Amino acid sequence: MSVMTTAPVIRAPRGGKLNCKGWQQEAALRCLMNNLDPAVAERPSDLVVYGGIGRAARNWDCYHAIVRELQSLGNEETLLVQSGKPVAVFPTHDMAPRVIIANSNLVGKWANWEHFHELDRKGLMMYGQMTAGSWIYIGTQGILQGTFQTFASMADRHFGGSLKGKLVVTGGMGGMGGAQPLSVTLNDGVVLCIEVDPTRIQRRLDTRYCDVLAETLDQALELCEAARREGRALSVGLVGNCADVLPQIVRRGVQVDAVTDQTSAHDPLNGYVPQGFTLEQAAELRKSDPEEYVRRSTASMVVHVNAMLALQRAGAVAFDYGNNIRRFAFDAGCADAFDIPGFVPEYIRPLFCEGAGPFRWVALSGDPKDIDRTDELALELFPDNEILNRWLRLARGRFAFQGLPARICWLGYGDRAKMGEAMNDLVRKGELSAPVAIGRDHLDTGSVASPYRETEKMLDGSDAVADWPILNALLNTASSASWVSFHHGGGVGMGYSLHAGQVTVADGSENASRRIARVLNNDPGIGVARHVDAGYDIAKKTAREKGIRIPME
Ligand code: NAD
Repeated sequence: MSVMTTAPVIRAPRGGKLNCKGWQQEAALRCLMNNLDPAVAERPSDLVVYGGIGRAARNWDCYHAIVRELQSLGNEETLLVQSGKPVAVFPTHDMAPRVIIANSNLVGKWANWEHFHELDRKGLMMYGQMTAGSWIYIGTQGILQGTFQTFASMADRHFGGSLKGKLVVTGGMGGMGGAQPLSVTLNDGVVLCIEVDPTRIQRRLDTRYCDVLAETLDQALELCEAARREGRALSVGLVGNCADVLPQIVRRGVQVDAVTDQTSAHDPLNGYVPQGFTLEQAAELRKSDPEEYVRRSTASMVVHVNAMLALQRAGAVAFDYGNNIRRFAFDAGCADAFDIPGFVPEYIRPLFCEGAGPFRWVALSGDPKDIDRTDELALELFPDNEILNRWLRLARGRFAFQGLPARICWLGYGDRAKMGEAMNDLVRKGELSAPVAIGRDHLDTGSVASPYRETEKMLDGSDAVADWPILNALLNTASSASWVSFHHGGGVGMGYSLHAGQVTVADGSENASRRIARVLNNDPGIGVARHVDAGYDIAKKTAREKGIRIPME
């Protein structure tokens, strides 16, 4: 197969006119294209959406073939995508998913980066991350609410409900990590965010996710200290390598209140930059001697995590933010790496027990007014949901949309279906100018097995049990999601996670209403069931109250 090298500039179609034979297919087409919009993707010319090398399609030939297939796909057909390549179309029925996707899955014994890279080099696989290869990434805003929520929970737990006058130090301002500065300032805190690539910081300045860029640590600390003294929220992006800068912060005895990290440590070859290298030198070594690169990269992670541990010992709240840095540092010799707790057991699991997770929707019209209307709808439907109300008040108009306008709101079991059905009604009544794609991150309550992140320290020790995400994907297929995906390695890297995704389209039709009612209840419902099975009381209470049938409870 020929591999096309020229990269087109992609932007999803807007408006109410179909380019496909139905809105289910059209939504998949627009969301795939939106993932690669230069305003959304981190490296669109390489088809990289976010998270190291998380791609939307395997190569440009595959991308164009997927687009062609979606355009001709009938309303009783299903397209199969295998690691970013369209491999078959089968006859199904009008309630079936229009697309089924499997990305980066490897048999257990071979489930490591080395084998994956070999297959990737041969053009046989791609890395789908979580929402890159499943076409429901919505830019940094997608993670913004989750990050906001995590920092809010941390503030509740440790700092009396606010980060005012507190200094948070973190690393990485990429696709996901770029949400950190704004999430801290939305919680009234001060944040120093260390990022090795100045263009990433610039991007966050341009989209108003970060307030200022500092060239030196002295300048950064001066700005942070002044803001902390005055109780003023401020985010500072500092150009530097975490493994260089964090030990300096330790040596200077800076009082840090919380420390975490979102460099792409889950991928030691393509995601993390070792200390002592410029970006160009790193790119050179990555190509010329990948083994040496990984050795240096994981050695730098040891220095990085040791500095986080030193800050923890000096009184900072430290937590791992889902990039698997502890494991790589541990394997390279940092014996205490797991003294740093993971963010899910610390702050997110109680929400998972209620079936709450990163629910999101995309206005396929491209019209921001459609998101305004759905924001109002959420406020009308959930007046008592304090966090949602606070979030929407903060989010509306505060930051620029990237690509197709979208919104994320963590919603629990019952509320997701309620919101989805109400959005479908708005489309039917013409109050929205085009249909809405309703999806979620794979980082959700019942859709992922990831022992160093979503399923870390489960009550019953079932951290590595991966039956649940498989059941989730199968259930969403049986429930008629518009497209369903099953991936390996997202977030924490090859060998460390298995996870599933779904997107369901609200096009105002009766067909969509039935899809929505089933999927948006069953999808979080299996999350509640998973946590009931592991013995969580909040999940048992949720199941009882919401009438979720659990045979052996
Ligand atoms: P990304 O690849 O887009 O960005 C990573 C950034 O880290 C890049 O800008 C890179 O220049 C920078 N970087 C790499 N090495 C560095 C170093 N040594 N010092 C300073 N900066 C360095 O990735 P992303 O989408 O932002 O995701 C970041 C990590 O967070 C990934 O591991 C991802 O899996 C994880 N993640 C966490 C969550 C969550 O909810 N906690 C969600 C998604 C992803």
